Amino acid sequence: MELTVLGCSGSYGAPAGGACSGYLVRAGDATIWMDCGNGSFANLQQHVDPGELSAVVITHCHADHCVDIYGVHVMFRYGRKLSGLPVYAPEGAEALLAQLVGSFGDTFDWRTVRDGDHASIGDAALRFSRTDHPPPTVAVEIAHDGKRLVYTADTGPDWTVGAFGEGADLVLSEATYLHDDIRAPIHLSARQAGEQARAANARRLIITHLWPTLDPLASVEEASEAFGREVGLAAPHLSTHV
Ligand SMILES: [Zn+2]
Ligand SMILES: [Zn+2]
Repeated sequence: MELTVLGCSGSYGAPAGGACSGYLVRAGDATIWMDCGNGSFANLQQHVDPGELSAVVITHCHADHCVDIYGVHVMFRYGRKLSGLPVYAPEGAEALLAQLVGSFGDTFDWRTVRDGDHASIGDAALRFSRTDHPPPTVAVEIAHDGKRLVYTADTGPDWTVGAFGEGADLVLSEATYLHDDIRAPIHLSARQAGEQARAANARRLIITHLWPTLDPLASVEEASEAFGREVGLAAPHLSTHV
């Protein structure tokens, strides 16, 4: 399984190519675009032909995780004449997002996911868990070939990666804040991300969704101290094997 970061800026776009949340996951024959935040579709096209996508997963309908669905809609409907791309998203997402375009027509095959749901996308097995974040939001586990990737989506501290069990091979955790400056408890600090991944015996941790004005090295240091080992930092176009 391979994870490629398409965008990782927390909540709004950062200068110098700082697209918002988007990740490309290749697992066997599955090619999954996980979150389609602003700027991530442009970066996606540097790694894969969108016509080859197996599915899109939208964790929640905050703009920084979903608005590039409009780009793929226009490309598929008016450019490539493609239809039926499966989109896994929390309840209400299709109706909410369709308001800007009237209707998505047959571009997408919408599939509602709730807490505890499972899905198979080609060779990849997915599970979903409702997080501690105001709109309906799901964290995602992708399993393939004995390996497990867990993506926290956005969450406050009342949900943890342990919801998917212990020992994930890679946890991709939001870490919006530094711990001494938590602005709203709907996100994690770097320390909380490290503590929670450690408590769930994660093998590796990569932090993402940092508030754009933070010094990322301070976040890595804080998360690493809490995790007990060096953590990785998401960056656009970074790829890693799981
Ligand atoms: Zn976000
Ligand atoms: Zn959010």
